Amino acid sequence: MNIILLGPPGCGKGTQAKLLQERYGVVQLSTGDMLRAAAKEGTALGRKAGAIMNEGKLVPDDLIVSMIAERIEKPDCRNGFILDGFPRTVAQAKALDAMLEEKGLRLDHVIELDVDEKVLFARIEGRAAEAAGAVRADDNPETLRKRLAVYREQTAPILPYYRDKGRLQQVDGMQSIDEVARQLVVIIEGV
Ligand code: AMP
Repeated sequence: MNIILLGPPGCGKGTQAKLLQERYGVVQLSTGDMLRAAAKEGTALGRKAGAIMNEGKLVPDDLIVSMIAERIEKPDCRNGFILDGFPRTVAQAKALDAMLEEKGLRLDHVIELDVDEKVLFARIEGRAAEAAGAVRADDNPETLRKRLAVYREQTAPILPYYRDKGRLQQVDGMQSIDEVARQLVVIIEGV
């Protein structure tokens, strides 16, 4: 089962992806987590990505696409994966389509968590407070503002890309974590 979770930073994609991972035994593939791990290790990709991430900008498509192409070949993806934070541009969405076709894989669900931007600020501030000591360098109001602008300009156009293909499903991400999780299960299990 292969799923894409879409939505702006702070919409709850990561939280829901982890819950789906536990429930269905599929792997959460968070490109943000992968890049942060690479930055921590100090790999060539990590060094390049780290600076871009701290500015709230997007890492170049070709780097991200090859990172994901490699990752979904790993044995733990055999049962499926939840893409969290990818694709983030129409070019990435098209590259993903081509990649899946080449590998004989398909997307089962493309789900947007729809949220109100004002509430996102409160959430990100809460996340920064919770993680005291281990705060993400890009979890601050100034960078969030940039990340939201990048989302509107570069990522939101992938919503009509999937909608036009009849693939886009939506869940109201302003509800409680449990309620969002419940509605995702309804979509996935078709009940
Ligand atoms: P996230 O944890 O998903 O919020 O991602 C954190 C940062 O990693 C983003 O602000 C980007 O700089 C970078 N990033 C994550 N995923 C992607 C992607 N699919 N394309 C480009 N940049 C990405």
